[in-house]
Amino acid sequence: MVAKTAAVAGLLVALFVYVQLSANAQLFMGGALINAGYRFQDMYREAHDQTPQEIWDELDAHNELAAKVRGHLPRPQLHPVVAMLVCMDARIDTSELAGDARRNYYVVRTAGSVMSPEEEDMLELAVTKGVKVIVITRHTDCAAERVAADPVERQRFPALAAAVAERDARLREFLARPQIAGRIARGELLVKQQLIETETDHLTDAQASFAASAGL
Ligand SMILES: [Zn+2]
Repeated sequence: MVAKTAAVAGLLVALFVYVQLSANAQLFMGGALINAGYRFQDMYREAHDQTPQEIWDELDAHNELAAKVRGHLPRPQLHPVVAMLVCMDARIDTSELAGDARRNYYVVRTAGSVMSPEEEDMLELAVTKGVKVIVITRHTDCAAERVAADPVERQRFPALAAAVAERDARLREFLARPQIAGRIARGELLVKQQLIETETDHLTDAQASFAASAGL
């Protein structure tokens, strides 16, 4: 009880400070609060002992509550300037990755960060909506890459294995699209290729290694 009261008091003080600070400090403070929330939720039990219906009921109830809160406290319309392509691996948290609220970014998530023409279209559409930076990511310890590298798994999941195998070709295809190539040439669009360290969400430049694997 004391701990809870202290947490609420701390939150109120943090909120008060938050509204007094500059835009950058507000962003930082918001990130700190979001991270504090994650740490609280990390204590939440795993749901492997629940039935599918119980898991859905819980998700539905959470959504009901979140939608109610959002209905009472609407959030401003944002116009993202960054789009990210990220693997669907649940260990990667795009909010932590970007150090910002998720809605500031378009996030495309696929197994193994593979792209089909549909994802290429989505990213190009995002560019026409104002995106100036695209972050193409892959990550360490990727299950989709393991499937593609294992002959037995490749037989079980042939479509995924094929998509991972043609990942580099799709990326080259995307970069060569007239709208994308033109904007890059004019300095209006930056495309960064980054490797995510899965355990920490840390990004490192992977342009050279992606290019090497693509035979560029
Ligand atoms: Zn992955």
